[in-house]
Amino acid sequence: MRYRTRYRTRYRWRTRKNGKSVAIVDWSMSVSKEEIDRLAWEQIWYIDKGHYANADPAAVQKLGHLIRNGILKLPVPPPIDSPVEVPETGSVLNPVPPPDPVLAELAELAETCKKRRLSCPFAEQAQAGIVRGTYPGGFPQGAVIHWTAGHRNGLKTGRSFMTKSRYLYFLIDANGGILQPRPINEWGYHCGKSYWRGRSSLHRYFVGIECQAAGKLKKIDGDFYPWWDRGGSNYTGPYRKRPANRIPADQVAYSPHRENISGGYYHKLTISQFNAVRKLVLWLHYNNTDSFDLGNVVGHDEISPGRKVDMGGALVDDQERVLTGNEFRLRLATDAKKLGF
Ligand SMILES: [Zn+2]
Repeated sequence: MRYRTRYRTRYRWRTRKNGKSVAIVDWSMSVSKEEIDRLAWEQIWYIDKGHYANADPAAVQKLGHLIRNGILKLPVPPPIDSPVEVPETGSVLNPVPPPDPVLAELAELAETCKKRRLSCPFAEQAQAGIVRGTYPGGFPQGAVIHWTAGHRNGLKTGRSFMTKSRYLYFLIDANGGILQPRPINEWGYHCGKSYWRGRSSLHRYFVGIECQAAGKLKKIDGDFYPWWDRGGSNYTGPYRKRPANRIPADQVAYSPHRENISGGYYHKLTISQFNAVRKLVLWLHYNNTDSFDLGNVVGHDEISPGRKVDMGGALVDDQERVLTGNEFRLRLATDAKKLGF
């Protein structure tokens, strides 16, 4: 046939069986004879890197001239056992997923908000915490996520505590409210001895983000208690099991040991807190993409392993999944891609 010579170099296999023409197109030559034998005759298969799939859009495009000339046929979709009625969009059985509030807000903000700002447009501004220096280049290069290991007592109380403690960090309360203590170019202590990708003493490069949460919890008789339930001097004594100190079970996450997560029970971030952390770091990246790398958004336990366990299993996402540091960075990369940041 005419096309045999015209297109020969495009094929690895082409044959005839029972008088029917078959075209098998393979751009990589990495598929075994057994796999070829399993293919249905009279179908066009595109094979790439050892995987094959019919109706691959890229393949269809590449083969467009053959299809248009009627030389190759499009693959036939497999028969469906019984027709399925698709529920109406927006009905209970096929709900429209709610818009992601963080992405919606940031997309809107990106239309009007200038870059290289020193104040976060959605954070409450304050004069709090102790400044130790300014970032090289004037902007942070990443962020360290912490928990406060304290009460969820709001930004006002948290703000005076920060100043007394002589540290400096963004603070996020249970409702997702964000406090920015100083202009973005100024750094203060928040993570101590730390190491990440060739940098050390990371407070000099990365902002601190403290989320109000109790931290790791002790399970006693089915109830969960924070460190301040312990008696004795410096809270080193036995747990007192005070009802007022109990953390409700629906605020608790469990995780086995996994990557950076030390196994155990945690006072998990609220969804508002999780979204506030996402929003803040995505904005920090948007604000100066050259400086702030989303790959440098780390938990304290990732940069001070063995010494610190925050965020551990407290980093729970909007689908109630406990995230490791790697999983969180993957989520941020996906978010940034959707936003075009
Ligand atoms: Zn910490």
